[in-house]
Amino acid sequence: MKKILESIKSYDTIIIHRHVRPDPDAIGSQVGLKEIIQQSFPEKKVFAVGADEPSLTFLAQMDHISDEQYQNALVIICDTANTSRICDQRYNLGKQLIKIDHHPNVDAYGDIQWVDTSASSTSEMIYDFYLQTKEYGLICSDAAARLLYAGIVGDTGRFLYPSTTKKTFLLAAELVTYRFDRSKLYDGMYNISDKLAKLKGYIYQNFNLWDGGLAFVKLTKSVLEEFRIKPTEIGQLVSILGDIEGIVAWVVFIEEEEQIRVRLRSKGPTINELAAKYNGGGHPLASGATVTTWEEADEVINDLQDICQAFKK
Ligand code: AMP
Repeated sequence: MKKILESIKSYDTIIIHRHVRPDPDAIGSQVGLKEIIQQSFPEKKVFAVGADEPSLTFLAQMDHISDEQYQNALVIICDTANTSRICDQRYNLGKQLIKIDHHPNVDAYGDIQWVDTSASSTSEMIYDFYLQTKEYGLICSDAAARLLYAGIVGDTGRFLYPSTTKKTFLLAAELVTYRFDRSKLYDGMYNISDKLAKLKGYIYQNFNLWDGGLAFVKLTKSVLEEFRIKPTEIGQLVSILGDIEGIVAWVVFIEEEEQIRVRLRSKGPTINELAAKYNGGGHPLASGATVTTWEEADEVINDLQDICQAFKK
């Protein structure tokens, strides 16, 4: 953390990236860190870059910058395990690269790496970074606290997942003492449109449940068209099968333009090795991958079935 602080202090321009298809932790850690640096060092130019995600603009808007800004810049990547998933591939145009992440460090990129798989979220790490270094003059604003709290809430499934630790609660307890409207934040994160509510009904009606506790649902292009939902809007629905009795691991397939996105979740068996087999990765209990055909999707289901059976034994 000291090394990271020293780097931050020594650069005039700092550009912060995060992963493609961002979630609240990606945006929360990225823009939360930007806010902390900007408040603490107002003379520095600090940018948060990447494609805007319409469903998360209530959290923060991205900065749009030219390639020239990367000259002599410090680049920090938040919440992104591998370089191919970094949103805005200009990340390597800077002078120094720092990785801050809580996923398994399969792709050890960056001049400085701070990877803590015991952290519930990268937002938790960023707030911890602030607490550990505030004696050197760092300032955490209400805006930063709101973003970091959103990231923690998002990645812990509202403090539900086993990744939630005593430390998570302690940091969250401090974050709620800042001034921001928590109810409004929850509305932004968890209110769903009527279209999405109907798709939720479709998922409950149509999921398959196999012996061993495996469940899956296939959201084909035609289903998504019927409900007028874009593949990027489904994030909030991936976890819902976890509340159903007997389901141990599940997968939601989402057909996109050229590929099928595979979103894997588990309440016990490790699934990130399976994700890695299909060009993906992630956490032991929450991973993602991509396949190109429905036959390949069926292979994922069969592999997951083997994993569930082995877990049961
Ligand atoms: P998601 O289903 O997109 O919410 O992803 C769950 C977890 O898996 C997140 O921590 C992602 O960072 C990770 N993940 C998702 N897709 C991929 C992928 N294609 N490659 C590596 N990690 C992924």
